[in-house]
Amino acid sequence: MNATSTAPHDTDCGAPVVELGVPLIGGSHQRSSAGTAGLDTTDATRSERFAQMRAGELGSLHSWELVTAVDGPGTRLTAFLSGCPLRCLYCHNPDTMEMRRGEPISADELLARVARYRPIFEVTGGGLTISGGEPLMQPAFVARLLRGAKEMGIRTAVDTSGYLGAHCTDEMLDDIDLVLLDVKSGIPDTYRKVTGRDLQPTLDFGRRLAARGTEIWVRFVLVPGLTDAPENVEAVADYVATLSTVSRVEVLPFHQMGRDKWETLGLKYELEDTQPPSPELVARVREQFRERGLTVY
Ligand code: SF4
Repeated sequence: MNATSTAPHDTDCGAPVVELGVPLIGGSHQRSSAGTAGLDTTDATRSERFAQMRAGELGSLHSWELVTAVDGPGTRLTAFLSGCPLRCLYCHNPDTMEMRRGEPISADELLARVARYRPIFEVTGGGLTISGGEPLMQPAFVARLLRGAKEMGIRTAVDTSGYLGAHCTDEMLDDIDLVLLDVKSGIPDTYRKVTGRDLQPTLDFGRRLAARGTEIWVRFVLVPGLTDAPENVEAVADYVATLSTVSRVEVLPFHQMGRDKWETLGLKYELEDTQPPSPELVARVREQFRERGLTVY
């Protein structure tokens, strides 16, 4: 995260935003081209770009990809936005943490790309998933994407840690069909160790989603020696069991696939010696969720 991105605040129009670093041009690590057609970013002044970002006309995109059977039902276009307030030790996309590493893209351009896949979404029951990084670092941009997708009749999902859930307006929630809620730990001290941040905002956001009837898929990353303590899993499972709109829990085994990115970025990777969980450990943790009547994958 860059030095300007830590302080959430409200704008005078009432839409919460995070003060963002202006994206670097051409600085992304893309799986697919982010693109900037129709957006004269080289001539736009810094303040103009800030204004566009505040209005949600412009966002910072890391990459996008077409996926099936992950990030929500059916075939989905998943847009990975740049910027994240968390610093998860196991993050496999640390290049999404800083917003300025992303590439500027207009909401209209991204929505035009989404529109191309509408027939596939219709056939497969898929749609648009907005992920990151942390999408709620760019709430106005996300709000435009959600609204644009719904106007095209496309189903939507947002993949979030919930840490910035207070930035998600009720109007945005009206345009979200599914939230992929990453609950990274159930014990506050463990959560802080894993992410560097507080657990409470995530708990609050999940409860708000359940109270308004928004469907939730919970994701829990199982990391031996970090998140696997029985009492930590119990705390997550106890919490999730109180959320009436959770339709599935995904226990995601830790892997080392992001390791090289940490090194490339010159960041210290603290899980160098951590192994993926054994099948027995994965089974134990899944069972801890199942014992509460939850549907677990
Ligand atoms: S919330 Fe996601 S993107 Fe952010 S640091 Fe954690 S794993 Fe990485």
